[in-house]
Amino acid sequence: MKEWYASQTLDHGLTLIWERQIKPFFRCNIWHLRGRDGDLLIDSGMGIFSLKDALPVLSERPLTAVATHTHVDHIGCHHEFDHCAVHKAEAATLASPDRHNTIADVYLTDAMFEGEVPAGYSSATYSVQGVKAGRLLQEGDVIDLGDRAFEVLHLPGHSPGSIALWEEKTGTLFSGDVLYQGPLIDDFYHSVVEEYVESMHRLRELPVRVVHAGHFGSFGRDTMLQLIDEYLQGKRVPGCPSDHAGHSGGYV
Ligand SMILES: [Zn+2]
Ligand SMILES: [Zn+2]
Repeated sequence: MKEWYASQTLDHGLTLIWERQIKPFFRCNIWHLRGRDGDLLIDSGMGIFSLKDALPVLSERPLTAVATHTHVDHIGCHHEFDHCAVHKAEAATLASPDRHNTIADVYLTDAMFEGEVPAGYSSATYSVQGVKAGRLLQEGDVIDLGDRAFEVLHLPGHSPGSIALWEEKTGTLFSGDVLYQGPLIDDFYHSVVEEYVESMHRLRELPVRVVHAGHFGSFGRDTMLQLIDEYLQGKRVPGCPSDHAGHSGGYV
């Protein structure tokens, strides 16, 4: 079903792909990046319809399909690609996804569609296909496309193996679900708030110019700092060292 996906080319060989019938909170941003020696796909959507069939550009050149993490809205079409990469903490989920380890059991709802629920799809039973990653990622690894190189930042909290891809040369960050312009989620059963807070402190120190996030629109440094500070302020506990003077109390 070709019309399921829409795409828009941004700058420097970067294309945003999205599932147009799924509401923004539920659909992930799928990023395709053209490199000199090969292409990069960052996340792959829900997998209700084939991504590879819909977008021939994804078959033109060698391509590495990276998963920022393995929630059901991000890895649905990874099984269509020969070369997948994921943080080692979530490799088992990518290989054997089920409704629990991908949070499909708590995340999927028929209310996520803009219109009718697709024929044959059921939120009560839907599960994505697995694929064994050829490359297991960890903090500090580099994904090199020849003319562009991205460093893997391990930023757990939202999920144990959440990563962001960081290109220092251009100040570009692909943040996955660690940071986006919407309600940040740290209460899934495998989320850890303390780790999320630490990941936010790390991101705050990065000289970021632009963030291409896992959901909603891209944004610049000022918005990034605002989102981080709003999150951290919401997590302040009275008396903890990060509880700056001038603020009264906090909540967890
Ligand atoms: Zn997501
Ligand atoms: Zn997620």
